[in-house]
Amino acid sequence: MPAFTFEDARRCVLETVRAACVNPAVEVVALEAAAGRVLAEPVAADRDYPALARSVRDGYAVRAGDLPGELDVIGEVRAGENYAGEVGARQAVEIMTGAPVPRGADAVVMLEYVRREGARVIVDQGAQAGQFINPQGSEARAGEILLHSGKRLDYTDIAMLAAAGIDPVTLYAAPRVAIIATGDEIVPVGAAPRDFQIRNSNVYSLAAQVTRAGGVPQILPVARDEMEHTRELIERGLGADLLLLSGGVSAGKYDIVEHVLEGLGAKFYFDRVLIQPGQPLVFGKARGKFFFGLPGNPSSTMVTFEIFARAALEILGGQEDVALHMPFARLTEEFRHRTGLTRFLPARLSADGGAVTPVAWRGSSDVPSVTRANAFLVVDADRAAWQAGDWIRVLLK
Ligand code: AMP
Ligand code: MG
Repeated sequence: MPAFTFEDARRCVLETVRAACVNPAVEVVALEAAAGRVLAEPVAADRDYPALARSVRDGYAVRAGDLPGELDVIGEVRAGENYAGEVGARQAVEIMTGAPVPRGADAVVMLEYVRREGARVIVDQGAQAGQFINPQGSEARAGEILLHSGKRLDYTDIAMLAAAGIDPVTLYAAPRVAIIATGDEIVPVGAAPRDFQIRNSNVYSLAAQVTRAGGVPQILPVARDEMEHTRELIERGLGADLLLLSGGVSAGKYDIVEHVLEGLGAKFYFDRVLIQPGQPLVFGKARGKFFFGLPGNPSSTMVTFEIFARAALEILGGQEDVALHMPFARLTEEFRHRTGLTRFLPARLSADGGAVTPVAWRGSSDVPSVTRANAFLVVDADRAAWQAGDWIRVLLK
């Protein structure tokens, strides 16, 4: 099987999972618990937004044609009230942000630009009709779709649902994700490892990443580097909606994950991607379920989940937009690499998010460096050198 580029592998995952995906079951959840979950129904505006023309400033509701000039203040309207009367020629009503604009008025002048003298207000400048007023329905019309099914709900969506009176919310069920670590050197976190042993960190980082991506992780026992035991666990793992394996996918004598999967009749879409970390990366399907064989070195496991498995999980969860967000920042120092691999290297993004600096890294086993980083530098496979000040993409952690 040929090695895939990063872009081809990503396209393959997206297309393959989308083509196979049926929408998950739905469940009804309290609005309070809906953030980060995926909406399973379209939400329409229950009324015009705003429902009445509203002022977006504190000041005076006026007739623009009267200005500049001196106006009689005939009353006041606060948010939560409706002014019963009408603003006539050379009249004004004191108005607060969010209050409905009284009949007759067609503009709001800001408090900061007027002088109040008893029952009169003096405005030295002209005003444009419509200024500082959001007309009825100008934000959204009654019946208009505000949120589409398949949207992963962020805090702005939660505000929209609350404003539209949607509680509880109909959501897609979260996919269950089985996680299996492999390797005879792997010992439990609570164990005192011998020098040649490694504590099982991958299942914990993966469980955290799965949860963050909207899945429900299920950690299975560690598979020994032995066919029968590995097969037993993989068969259990294929009972979930998605299976993640870590380790055992390189070319070593005891890297048996692919053989075991082959024995279970798996179809493989790719088993090598031109990236660092994470070259030996397996994506396939067995018994109707997708699986990823992620390389075992912790940085590789973490990065390959973020750039590939995460999107698969999101699609299985009914999510529409699974874009990988990789904004640009300016490099603070020159950077070179050998072309051919797309690299995801630990880096620190400045406090203002505009500048990025690579973090010294000893390779894919180096977890301390990854924790010192707050982002990954995304290094294009076909460009060899960047100068300080050049734009480069980053993947946030
Ligand atoms: P492998 O891909 O199986 O050759 O694993 C490569 C290396 O990744 C191993 O030598 C371990 O150092 C490390 N590794 C594998 N599995 C885990 C795990 N579950 N947790 C932490 N490190 C791991
Ligand atoms: Mg191994």
